[in-house]
Amino acid sequence: MKIIKDGTAAGGVCTGEELEAVNAFARTELKAGDVYIFSVLLCDNEVDRDFERFSESTLRELGELFVGVTGICDHDWRSGNQVARIYRTELITDKDRTTSYGSPYVYLKGYAYMLRTESNAELIAEIDGGIKRETSVGCSVARSVCSICGEEIGACSHVKGRQYGGKQCCAILEGAVDAYEWSFVAVPAQRGAGVIKNFVETEAGKSYAAEYEALEKAAALGRKYLCELKAEVLRLCLVCDKSMHPALEKSVDLMDETALCELKSALEKRAEKLYPPLTQLPGRGEVTKFCGDEYII
Ligand SMILES: [Zn+2]
Repeated sequence: MKIIKDGTAAGGVCTGEELEAVNAFARTELKAGDVYIFSVLLCDNEVDRDFERFSESTLRELGELFVGVTGICDHDWRSGNQVARIYRTELITDKDRTTSYGSPYVYLKGYAYMLRTESNAELIAEIDGGIKRETSVGCSVARSVCSICGEEIGACSHVKGRQYGGKQCCAILEGAVDAYEWSFVAVPAQRGAGVIKNFVETEAGKSYAAEYEALEKAAALGRKYLCELKAEVLRLCLVCDKSMHPALEKSVDLMDETALCELKSALEKRAEKLYPPLTQLPGRGEVTKFCGDEYII
């Protein structure tokens, strides 16, 4: 997460409009020279290291929740560390950039202010100098939905990070519940520190842990079986008609177990016709014709 510095932030000049927005949060009327304004990239809709991403509607909801939230240093909650506060947010669509799954890149930009005090001078200099530019946000969402089938992640057979028919499965984070913190993270110690995401864990979810584990094992077995079935179909395809193989290689991923079994038995029948079983002996009452040409030494 990067801090996107504003033109105004670098010079430390605060426009009248921004100052008005800041003063909505300040206890005493602040003047332009009293405050330092900068912007922060809070979160976006790109798939992260955990194969999770925010939906656009979640980002919009987070945009409302983040207004008024104070920023801290390295997730330390001591009051002395609460240095800056977000006074407005903006959901921005970058038309020149697309996400890894082909959607326009959307990010939540937070505008924050802090007082130009002696104790903040060092941090302001660090932001200006690009040393403190990584941030991470802490928020919670209600649901984590499978990008392949739309089920709750874990309730379906898809696994985050795996490919299904050319599409990578990821968890879409839906329903912003809370935005409780955003934090400066020193560079490079925790470079690339991302978004801390918490899920609202239901009591029901906890008590089914054992069943869940058993289902996971069964699902793994099922995946193995399906994988072997696909391999067998592709092998039979090579036996019957090599030219079909490239097209079939892509489509087996989209087929379910029933379709794969049907295709397998159809291919087996065809292979049997193409290559009928041969016996060495011609059978009772038949005379073996012997042709010496086959036995040249
Ligand atoms: Zn799924």
